[in-house]
Amino acid sequence: MAASYKSANTPADPKHSSRLGLRQHFYLAEVLGGLKLTGIRFFANMWRHTLHTVFRVKSARGAVTIQYPDERRPYATRLRSLHRLVRREDGSPRCVACMMCETVCPAHCIYIVATEHPNPEIEKVPERFDIDLGKCVFCGYCVEACPEDAIRMDTGILEFSSYSRGGMIYTKETLLALEPAGPHGVPTSPVPIPADRKGP
Ligand code: SF4
Ligand code: SF4
Repeated sequence: MAASYKSANTPADPKHSSRLGLRQHFYLAEVLGGLKLTGIRFFANMWRHTLHTVFRVKSARGAVTIQYPDERRPYATRLRSLHRLVRREDGSPRCVACMMCETVCPAHCIYIVATEHPNPEIEKVPERFDIDLGKCVFCGYCVEACPEDAIRMDTGILEFSSYSRGGMIYTKETLLALEPAGPHGVPTSPVPIPADRKGP
């Protein structure tokens, strides 16, 4: 016999919202409780900050805040940030358009068009290499799958956004222009600005 399915938060549920009393409906107690907790934290942190900065009590430290984005916490070396395409010494992409990354990508967000490389020792080169970062899940499979070490996620850039879906598509030229992050994961390349955010 099939098991009966009991849905939560239905009128039959004793905890359904229609059975809440006036006190629960207005959430007043919860709001006041939250304000109390915030107030306690605020004054406790302010007191510790005062002890630390005014009275030079070095052991007292308040809540640690940083002036982001001017200040940043160090990033872990394994952090996966914005992709970049690795260049050869002549500046051309190291990518040989083998399509391994495109094939393995679970989000289907890599689009490659291959063409012949002018150097007969290199079979192919991407004529077009787009990544739709609006779909990317930052799994890193493309980096793992690449047999040429031609794609990396080590730019340290995390703040990329766009006003449109099209603006999240990063092209070969943009990806080739990016550099690896410096010490503590600090980006060395400026955040690429999508076409839809550029001024006239
Ligand atoms: S990180 Fe994952 S989802 Fe993003 S492009 Fe690479 S394989 Fe696709
Ligand atoms: S797996 Fe590497 S070499 Fe192959 S298409 Fe992707 S980036 Fe290029």
